Order: sequence, then structure tokens, then C-alpha cells
Amino acid sequence: MERSFDTVIIGGGIAGVQAASILCQEQKTAIITDEEYLPYYRMRIEEIISGRGPEELYMHPLSWYEERGIEIIHSRAESIDKEGRAVSLADGSVIHYSSLLLATGSNARIFPLSGRQDRIFTLRRATDAEAIGKALSSAKSFTVIGGGLLGLELASGVADHLHIPVSVIETAEYILPRQLDKPSASLLMEKLMEKGVSVITSASADHADDEYLYLKDGRKIPSSVICFSIGVNPGKEIAEKAGIKTNKGIIVDEYLRTSSSDIYAAGDAAELDGRLFGLAMHAREMGSAAAFYILGKGKPYIPSEPSALLKIGGIDVVSLGRIGGESDVITDDGDRRVTIFTDDGIVTGAILINDKASMARIKALIGSRR
Ligand SMILES: Cc1cc2nc3c(=O)[nH]c(=O)nc-3n(C[C@H](O)[C@H](O)[C@H](O)COP(=O)(O)OP(=O)(O)OC[C@H]3O[C@@H](n4cnc5c(N)ncnc54)[C@H](O)[C@@H]3O)c2cc1C
Repeated sequence: MERSFDTVIIGGGIAGVQAASILCQEQKTAIITDEEYLPYYRMRIEEIISGRGPEELYMHPLSWYEERGIEIIHSRAESIDKEGRAVSLADGSVIHYSSLLLATGSNARIFPLSGRQDRIFTLRRATDAEAIGKALSSAKSFTVIGGGLLGLELASGVADHLHIPVSVIETAEYILPRQLDKPSASLLMEKLMEKGVSVITSASADHADDEYLYLKDGRKIPSSVICFSIGVNPGKEIAEKAGIKTNKGIIVDEYLRTSSSDIYAAGDAAELDGRLFGLAMHAREMGSAAAFYILGKGKPYIPSEPSALLKIGGIDVVSLGRIGGESDVITDDGDRRVTIFTDDGIVTGAILINDKASMARIKALIGSRR
């Protein structure tokens, strides 16, 4: 079967749906997704582990797409014919486009653990969360490899619901090294330990058997279920195969244009000025920017400063902008702590512990480059 659209979007994540919501006002638009569900909020898939249905996380009901004439095509896009302006799908159909947006997101990284084949997971898709939930229903212990934002939230969530040993293994000296300084990370680690999550830093996984994960230093950690949370690889394969320029991700310019005319990329898959983003806020911004450019109303895309919000063991942690450089603790009353980072007197980043109220003010300060 062959069909034609003005713009075809590969990927039904935040970038793809955001772009479609703008494009559909003037164009016949299709989203190709290789997931069985309608587009959902990926950041919330942990809720599926504790029993929510993926449908409860949908960004919009089917009627929202129907009312806007956005066609959702459930199949995997296998290849792009740039000259013929067409995408071939795994179900054998061919979709023609005038403009193509690659919003293919990213894939979770994993490495093989010798001695163990099963009950090893990553958490990226709704179906991953369903599989983890099922495995945890009979688990004796749970270990997350990787002490980043996602891994910590996952470990803390499981510790809230299940009375089994929960561990986090982190190779760095402290958790969240990209978002926190050492004192803030230590405070967070204490709170996690109080909740029953063992956080083991400066440690690497070596191999595993059915019950334990063995570390390179010889320690063994009870781990009847293991989840990797060691970062992502941008989904650039389909672009690479089509001869579109890639590096770590799909290379785009400030208008989200790839090296091939009328093909754009946005979200986790896109690389701008050597930078990958990996955050929902940038995926949404890039989806909008690409859509406006396709409609002839484009402005150069300037990414917002990154921010991360985390609630663990009752502590609110906010990380804004760039963490590093000169630091100044401007508030520290035991429970509440605010650290700002400066570069040549200009505020470039901040860590707020239990002080969400100051977030908007400090974000504005970072944005103003004062
Ligand atoms: C558990 C979890 C928690 C997170 N929490 C946060 C958070 O708190 N804050 C934050 O900012 N970010 C968070 N993120 C990251 C955020 O979800 C991503 O940055 C965002 O989803 C990226 O959006 P995207 O549209 O670029 O790609 P994605 O959401 O990854 O969507 C891409 C879609 O394209 C599909 N696809 C890929 N290739 C093809 C193909 N060839 N054919 C058809 N379909 C294809 C994929 O299956 C997927 O459905 C979290 C991520 C996870 C997994």
C-alpha cells in the first residue's frame, strides 16, 4: 500500500507529537510509531511498574489525533528513499512525504553480564516497564546499574513499594555527577540509604548469577532482577542507512535541518553543535522549532538551559543550568540548601535542595546571563 502526506514524522514521542500538533493546522501529517500504544509520557513509565496501564499515560486520546487529521501508523520505519521522498515500513507499505521529520528518540544502553541471560532489563518503553513489573512480582532483590536520575528514581520507587533489598551501583565517586556537586549528592545518598536503597559508588558490575551481581572489586550484591540505567544512544540508524550525516546523533543545524534537503531531526536523536540533549523539554522545543520551519515560519533554535527535578525520600532536588566552575552556598539551614555556580561573575547553574520556591527566580537569573 502507498500513501502520501505533506509531512511524515518517524517517532511518536514528545518531539514527534509536538511537531504534529503544529503541522496539522496547515498540513496533512502522519506519525509513524513502532510502539503498539498511542504516544504516551515516557517520563512516567515507572508508574506502569507499579500497576498503571500504559493507556493512563497517553498524551492524547485517539479522538484528539482524529479530530486534527493526524494519522498514526503503527509500524517500524525501515528505510528512507531520499530521491523518491518515501519511507518503507516493516509492514510492507510505502509512505511518501514532502517533508520528513526524524523524531526517533534514543535507545537504552546495556552491556552483557556473563553468567546471566534473563531478568536483565532496561527502562525505555512502556513494554519494558510492563516486563519489569512482572519480574518484580516474584523478585527477591533488585539492583539498578547506574546512579543517574532515571536509575535513582527507579530504585527509590521500587523501595517504596516492595520490601526487598534494593541497590544502586554507580561507577562515579558520587551519584548524579552531572546534576549535583558532592555535598548535595551525599545528602541525597543519606536519604536513599534511610529509605532502604543501598547506594554503592566507585563500583562496576562484572558478572552475575541467578541471585547475585558480582562487582569488579569482588563484592556480591543480591540481585534477582537487574535493570541497566547507564544512558542512551540516539536513534540514528535509519538516518545513517540513508546517508544522512550523523555523529553521536543525527546532525542538525539551528533550523533542525539535516544534511539532506527536506529532512529534519528533533528530540533525543538530534545533535546540535556537537550536543545531545536527552531531556523532554528540549524534545518539545525542537519539535516546535522543526514544525515552524517546515511551515515556513522558522526562527533559529536556541536551547533552554537544562533543568532536572527529582523527589527522593521526601527531598526535592532541582538542578538548573551548568553544574561546575565556581560555587557559592547562598542558603544552608540544614534542610534547605541552595548552591549557585558562576562563570566570571555570571550565574550559570544552581542546585536547590528543598527549595523549589526559588526555582523560577534562579532560572530567570541564569537565563538573563547576569
Ligand atoms: C523512565 C524515563 C524517565 C525520564 N524522565 C525524564 C524527566 O524527568 N525529565 C526529562 O526531561 N526527561 C526525562 N526522560 C527523558 C525523556 O523521556 C526523553 O528526553 C524524551 O522522551 C525524548 O523525546 P523524543 O520525542 O525525542 O523521543 P522518544 O520519547 O524516545 O520517542 C521516540 C519514538 O520513536 C520511536 N521510533 C524510533 N525509531 C523508529 C522507527 N524506525 N520507526 C518507528 N518508530 C520509531 C520509538 O519507539 C519511540 O516511540 C525520561 C526517560 C525515561 C525513559
